Amino acid sequence: TRPLLEVQDLQKVFTVGTMLNRKKIHAIRNVSFSIQEGETFALVGESGCGKSTTGRAIIRLTKPTSGTVKFNSVDLGNASNRDIRTMRRDIQMVFQDPYASLNPRMTIGRILAEPYRLHNLYSQKEREEKVIHLMEEVGLRSAYRNRFPHEFSGGQRQRIGIARALALHPKLIIADEPVSALDVSVQAQVLNLLMDLQEKYKLSYLFISHDLSVVKHISHRIGVMYLGEIVEVGEKEDIYSNPLHPYTQSLLSCIPTINKKEKSERIILSGDVPNPASPPSGCAFHPRCSSCMEICKSEKPKPRQIDKQVVACHLYN
Ligand code: SF4
Ligand code: MG
Repeated sequence: TRPLLEVQDLQKVFTVGTMLNRKKIHAIRNVSFSIQEGETFALVGESGCGKSTTGRAIIRLTKPTSGTVKFNSVDLGNASNRDIRTMRRDIQMVFQDPYASLNPRMTIGRILAEPYRLHNLYSQKEREEKVIHLMEEVGLRSAYRNRFPHEFSGGQRQRIGIARALALHPKLIIADEPVSALDVSVQAQVLNLLMDLQEKYKLSYLFISHDLSVVKHISHRIGVMYLGEIVEVGEKEDIYSNPLHPYTQSLLSCIPTINKKEKSERIILSGDVPNPASPPSGCAFHPRCSSCMEICKSEKPKPRQIDKQVVACHLYN
């Protein structure tokens, strides 16, 4: 079956600086992946690696410089206004800080009814019923619908953000660091909620996170991003049991594991993420890579298929 979302060679270049000193920043470069119905694809990497830009480029909050995004087989790059409107219902976003996107002067009931108002759907009474149902779906007491955002905890507010994303029955939810602002115990509850909703509604997720321990249970496949590029893609099990790219290996070595029988060595990444305006030559990871070879400094590694994984690293040539 055709994937629900197909991203091919997506690029976003920003131009910064003054007239005399213009610089191009490749926020994302050659980003390709697909998501099937009912699947969770996680994009993982340090902050500033282009994960959020990828999400924003998919729903065209930012216009991609090149590349294609197909949703339900419709090429969004030359879609009609009508197709774009449909896409804006079918793809919803959940953000790290729902509080920032919840109007503090509106009750939760009004906030959740807003998508229906904007799209002119349903009668007043039907909207009220929908809101009650939405709140129950995300584990909030519908009696709270006359309360304001500040009266809820962080976890409850994220449930409200999820309820709002669900209102129009989307097919894909782009969740950008949805649990990063929450306590660990609350994180698990919100992740479980997302998984329950996925099963119930066959939802697909693009799950964006800097934290491989967060995506461990929720994702089916994972793409690891570094400095605007996907350096490794694979099924969840393969990524965790057999990470191929040195960057994936270093990210994984930072996760505390319960089973510490064989004390795996923690790979400390030296140095910061380089400035995307002047990325390193060759493999962008080479200044931080403990396996760096001569060729890595001059030649960019091409993505290669190794079993079911795809990895861009000279170690596998
Ligand atoms: Fe390290 Fe070279 Fe592989 Fe880059 S290509 S990750 S520098 S071994
Ligand atoms: Mg981000």
